Amino acid sequence: METIKILVTGGAGFIGGNFVQYMVNKYPHYHIYNLDALTYAGDLLKHRDIEKKENYHFIQANIIDRKRIFSIFEGFKFDYVVHFAAESHVDRSIRDPEIFVRTNVLGTQVLLDAVKQFGVTKFIHVSTDEVYGELDLDPHTFFTEESPLQPNSPYSASKAASDLLVRSYYETYQIPINITRCSNNYGPFHYPEKLIPLTILRVLNNRKVPIYGDGKNIRDWLYVMDHCQALDMILHQGKIGEVYNIGGHNERTNIEVVKTIIDHLGKSENLIEFVPDRLGHDKRYAINPAKLEKLGWKPFYTFETGIAQTIQWYVDNKWWWERFDL
Ligand code: NAD
Repeated sequence: METIKILVTGGAGFIGGNFVQYMVNKYPHYHIYNLDALTYAGDLLKHRDIEKKENYHFIQANIIDRKRIFSIFEGFKFDYVVHFAAESHVDRSIRDPEIFVRTNVLGTQVLLDAVKQFGVTKFIHVSTDEVYGELDLDPHTFFTEESPLQPNSPYSASKAASDLLVRSYYETYQIPINITRCSNNYGPFHYPEKLIPLTILRVLNNRKVPIYGDGKNIRDWLYVMDHCQALDMILHQGKIGEVYNIGGHNERTNIEVVKTIIDHLGKSENLIEFVPDRLGHDKRYAINPAKLEKLGWKPFYTFETGIAQTIQWYVDNKWWWERFDL
C-alpha cells in the first residue's frame, strides 16, 4: 500500500494535538508529521501515548522560517497539509498584535508558497468563526460560508487575512485547498488560559473564576473530537476550493458555561468574579454547519456529554496540567 504523508502544523497545540492523536490511531497506514515551533502553547507531553508509534513523527520548526520550511517540503514530499499552527489567544492579540500577523499571516504565506512549489493533494487551512465578526442576539441568525468577513480582534483579523491569502492562492495558482471555520472548541489538552480549562482548573483548586463583563456573551461550543472528525471528512471528501463552517448548535453564554462546570464539580458560585469586559468583545457567534452536514457529518457530542467528559478528563489527568501557573 502506498504511504500517505500528512503534515500537521501546530500539532503540539490543543486542536492540532487532538487531531494528530486521532489520525495516528485511526489511520495506522498514514504517516503523520507534526510540525510545531513549541511556543508557550505547544507541548509534546500530550503525545506520550503515541510518540513511539511508527506512523508518528515530530519536526520542530517555525512556519515563518521560509528556508527551513522549503527544505522540509522538498525532503518529505507531503501528500496533505492540515494547517493549525497559529497564535490563538484573543487577549494576547489585544496586548501584542505583531506576532499574530507574523505567525498567522506570514507563516501561512510561507506554507502556501511551499505548497505551490512542491505540490500536495490538498491543503486544509483551519480557521475560525471569529473571522465573521459578531452576531446580534437574535437566535435565528447564523454565520454561513457566505457571511462577510468582519473580524473585530487582531487575532481574528490575522486569521481572516490568512483565509483570504489561502483563497487567493486557490484562485490565482489553483492550489487545492479547503478553508474550515469552526466554532469554539473544548476538550482534553486545552491550554488553561482559555475559558473552559481555566474554569475547570480554578474550580478544582477552589480559586476565583474571572468572567468578562456581564458574562452574557454567547459562544457556540464544539467538542474537539467532533472537530477532528469534521476535518477528517473534509480531508477525504471536501470539494476543492470550498469553505466549510463547523459547529454543533451548542450556543451558551459564558456565565452558563461557568455555572455548569461549578455545578458539576459540586462547588459554590461564590467562586465567580466579574472582571472588566474584554476590549471589542464580540457579543455572539453561532454557526450554520448545513454545508458540512450535507457531506454526512454531524457532531457526536452534545454540550452536556462533551463538558462532562472534559471535566472528568481534567480530574483524571493532573500529570498534564499541574505544571501550569494558574
Ligand atoms: P493552540 O494555541 O493551542 O496551538 C497552536 C500551536 O501552534 C502550538 O502548538 C504552537 O506551538 C504552534 N505554533 C505557534 N506559532 C508557530 C509557528 N510560528 N510555527 C510553528 N508552530 C507554531 O491553538 P488551538 O486552539 O489548538 O488552535 C489551532 C488552530 O485552530 C488555530 O489556527 C486557530 O485559529 C484555529 N481554531 C481554534 C479554535 C479554538 O476554539 N481553539 C476554534 C476554531 C479555530
